[in-house]
Amino acid sequence: MRSYDVIIAGSGISGLLLGAFLSSELNVLILEKESFVPRNKYWLTDEQCANEHKNLSECIETIYESMDYIAYDGTKATVTGNSILWNTDRLVELLYNIIRKNGGVIETECSIYSIWNEKKNVRVKASNEDFSTRLLIDCMGNSSPLVLAKQTVSIVGRYSVAGAIMETAPDISPIALQNVMLQKKPSYLEVFPRNDNKAYVAMIAPSVREDRTKEIMKHLHFVTTQTDMAEMFLSVDGPPLIGTVPVGIVKKPCLNRVFFFGEAGQCNPSCSATALTRMLYSVKETSKLLSQKIQADTLTKKDLKECCYLSNSRLNRKIQMSFFKQVLKFNSDKFRQLVVEMDKHPDKLVNDLIFSTYRFSPFDIGLLFRRGILGQGIRGGFI
Ligand SMILES: Cc1cc2nc3c(=O)[nH]c(=O)nc-3n(C[C@H](O)[C@H](O)[C@H](O)COP(=O)(O)OP(=O)(O)OC[C@H]3O[C@@H](n4cnc5c(N)ncnc54)[C@H](O)[C@@H]3O)c2cc1C
Repeated sequence: MRSYDVIIAGSGISGLLLGAFLSSELNVLILEKESFVPRNKYWLTDEQCANEHKNLSECIETIYESMDYIAYDGTKATVTGNSILWNTDRLVELLYNIIRKNGGVIETECSIYSIWNEKKNVRVKASNEDFSTRLLIDCMGNSSPLVLAKQTVSIVGRYSVAGAIMETAPDISPIALQNVMLQKKPSYLEVFPRNDNKAYVAMIAPSVREDRTKEIMKHLHFVTTQTDMAEMFLSVDGPPLIGTVPVGIVKKPCLNRVFFFGEAGQCNPSCSATALTRMLYSVKETSKLLSQKIQADTLTKKDLKECCYLSNSRLNRKIQMSFFKQVLKFNSDKFRQLVVEMDKHPDKLVNDLIFSTYRFSPFDIGLLFRRGILGQGIRGGFI
């Protein structure tokens, strides 16, 4: 039986990121159920979290100075503030190489299906092997069997995402969210242009229960082929990018010697599901605390709980959830109201909401006493 300080389940961005940090101090094994390390996602983050990781700067695809939020009738808020689109291939490759250089092991086609606790270890069964570890980190994303089986998260809703990489006309502008009035329940187009005349183009739809990916795939096809926006989108390049991002309230931040990170740990702000920003802000501190405690053999459940709130504080989670509950009830007109409001609020506040980076100023606190969707959202987090 192979034994490791830490076993990370899942080699998505959360597993690779935490693995890259932990493997410099501990011996780390990453288990991935697929036969490859996945590269089927893309990430937009704020700029400051990237500045804290200078060694990753070569993985930046491009920096946007502003992004547009557009309502069904063309009402637009252009929100300034640098955001970063990461180059998926370069980021995955770099993290993978750091882990291997540090002596970490990544096993593919190894699906975790059983765990149990022993005195100071966790035993893990994955495919046809048995492993032992001092800490299991669940980075298995939205399909984590542990999150589902142990009900560590109470799901409030989800985002369905359906998109593709598309060849585009040159010099198109990034669109954070554009609502087209196709149904009572809004869906939103997002367009993140890359440097190579291609863009990540996706439709996003929040919902309480149902998976809306099929429906929004049709919306995406309509918008990119049959509307006046169609001239921006020349052809589809590569397989569809489809999935759901569940959004929930963390009920159990950890189990005995099991920690949750990434989507499995609800690092994604519920209001936007943009997970990488929160992970980049918290990964250094999380890995430092875990490494120290594991090396000293003093890791407790309380330490794991503390780590859980490093990626998203309790207050951030509450504010985000308060917004998300409103977003779930939106019709297209309500989104239009939000766009009108966004144009009046400081850009920083809107970006704070997207990336969950609240550092409250007296002005923000003033918003608590105001009407409006943004004010309600913040107030709801405090109440
Ligand atoms: C199409 C799409 C677009 C998105 N766009 C953005 C975006 O622009 N910005 C953003 O921040 N977020 C975006 N997201 C959200 C995104 O899911 C998160 O940002 C982030 O990628 C989640 O990473 P993760 O490592 O937590 O989970 P995942 O990427 O889901 O990784 C989980 C890994 O665990 C593996 N696994 C599962 N079960 C087992 C098992 N039993 N044993 C072993 N391995 C297992 C899976 O194969 C997978 O490799 C998007 C999501 C989708 C679906």
